[in-house]
Amino acid sequence: MQYRQAKTGKLLIELLPNKCDFCGCCVGVCPEDAIELKEAEIYIIDERCTNCSKCVWSCPIEVIKFNKAGVPVR
Ligand code: SF4
Ligand code: SF4
Repeated sequence: MQYRQAKTGKLLIELLPNKCDFCGCCVGVCPEDAIELKEAEIYIIDERCTNCSKCVWSCPIEVIKFNKAGVPVR
């Protein structure tokens, strides 16, 4: 299974490719307006993301993962 890293640093956000159903939950919950949904892709804008993790918990099918050491925690 492949992950696409959207953020580097203390915490990582990872997106499981080909699983997102584009419900928009993560986009709506992000307080930094850091998630964009376009052309059937989710983009996390690194410069805006504060690693608050709200998007992780908002995703109903656990497409967005947070980890501290390259290991999914959810
Ligand atoms: S971790 Fe927080 S700031 Fe970063 S993309 Fe997710 S909801 Fe937005
Ligand atoms: S909440 Fe999950 S399924 Fe919905 S758009 Fe975001 S990543 Fe995709």
